[in-house]
Amino acid sequence: MTNTLKSRPGGQHICEGRQKSGEPCTMINTMRCLEGWYCRHHRRGKTVAHSGDLDQSMPSTKFTTKGDAERFTQWVLTQGARGHINAAQTNALMKAVSTWNKLQERMEQQLLDDFKALLFRARDEYAKLRAIAATEEGLD
Ligand SMILES: [Zn+2]
Repeated sequence: MTNTLKSRPGGQHICEGRQKSGEPCTMINTMRCLEGWYCRHHRRGKTVAHSGDLDQSMPSTKFTTKGDAERFTQWVLTQGARGHINAAQTNALMKAVSTWNKLQERMEQQLLDDFKALLFRARDEYAKLRAIAATEEGLD
């Protein structure tokens, strides 16, 4: 090994994951996640924050019409397709929408509480993503 990983140009970050042996992962092809910097082997289940333009704001989560839910769904799918939110987040948000759809059929307090909890969590995570994105510079 002649290359020292830490001196590699381009602002690469070493993966914060660990190998099965417990040794630190030394991969440098990493992406910024909410949890830190991780290579593709250690990103599973993590929320990727390296996402370029998080310019498209999350639409209102106060669904009053089917159109609101559809706009929100479209936003979730678009963000997911662009890799701005990961599969787990996409699933959580889509679950929120499907819960809202159920609410339209049966207005049950428990469902309403579940729905609010899901959305609060989603909004919280999205705020964190935006905060991280705001500190990123020159995503090249
Ligand atoms: Zn790794």
